[in-house]
Amino acid sequence: MCIDRIQPQRLAAYFISLCEIDSPGKKEGKVALYLRQFFSQFPGINIAEDSSGLHTGSDTGNLIITIPGNRPEATPLFFNCHMDVVTPCLGVEVDCTDGVFTSKGDTVLGGDDKGGIAILMELTHILMENDLSFPLVQLIFTTGEEIGLLGAKALDFDLIQAEYGFALDSTGVDNCIIGAPAAVYIHAVITGRAAHAGLNPEDGLNAIALCSEVISSLPLGRISKDTTANIGLIEGGTATNIIPEAVHVKGEIRSHNPDTLVRTITMFKAAFVDISSRHGGRAEVAFPPQYPAMLVSEDSPVVQCVQRAEGVLNRKLEFIVAGGGSDANIFNARGLPTVILGIGMANVHSTAEKIALKDMTRTLEMAVCIVTS
Ligand SMILES: [Zn+2]
Repeated sequence: MCIDRIQPQRLAAYFISLCEIDSPGKKEGKVALYLRQFFSQFPGINIAEDSSGLHTGSDTGNLIITIPGNRPEATPLFFNCHMDVVTPCLGVEVDCTDGVFTSKGDTVLGGDDKGGIAILMELTHILMENDLSFPLVQLIFTTGEEIGLLGAKALDFDLIQAEYGFALDSTGVDNCIIGAPAAVYIHAVITGRAAHAGLNPEDGLNAIALCSEVISSLPLGRISKDTTANIGLIEGGTATNIIPEAVHVKGEIRSHNPDTLVRTITMFKAAFVDISSRHGGRAEVAFPPQYPAMLVSEDSPVVQCVQRAEGVLNRKLEFIVAGGGSDANIFNARGLPTVILGIGMANVHSTAEKIALKDMTRTLEMAVCIVTS
């Protein structure tokens, strides 16, 4: 068994180096350069960068690393991680206590998703330095995942030879996400009429009051077992003595069920338009798509691959339908079946983020088994 060749200390060193390189969305270039340098030490590995930077506004494209493998008859597969990190993420200093990594507390750690990237670096060592049999493996490192899956949406799929793959980008460990909802944004503008609040309030129509009536009429939170909705931002008004003319509202709706998503959009739109017009105002509402739903069938080759590795390692993974969207939603929609594996990260998107070396190592063992069994 080759998992005993894993060097956890080398994995830890890569992880710390990665976390301490700044890489907010659209500024992943330094991480991309670090990865280029890393992969260029292995003869035979191909490093490609697509031209997605032109569309995403990032200082780098997505990186696609191709490890040729030595089983041409076997199905090529890929792993995916994103190079960007949520804010606050500048000047990360990593602390490691009892094998658990955290930031010093004023930034996120960036284990989301640099834990996954470090795992793939150590995976590459294992594949290249041991006498193993494995198929062509591609590593897809994307940009702008956290700010709208920008890199995945602009990925040059012509560079992908793999037929299915595994995103290393989820909390917990020993789990495999096979389903995730579709999501749309809510972008609304409610318009009333401006007037002086003290001199002629009779001539005004308060857009903030209209907005509050609309929002209080909407179901929010978990509105059914497969659907959630949120109003996350409102902005309106100009001064305390002016009846506000306009309010901008932003939110989102997510659903695993396409019919429920359409019905919820219709209901939300009606609430904005009907309530505003009943009072003599108006509302314009749009629902731009964020990402499509994904659901990978349990008998698909990508899930069977995970189940085979489960058997080899004698582990029991939990197969989950989750509530978040990620690059995997885009890959699935583009015909590349993709599941998401937990890498052990916790408290993500907060300065209390943490990840344990033993959980990264455990995920790496899974990845090695997926590739070699
Ligand atoms: Zn992530």
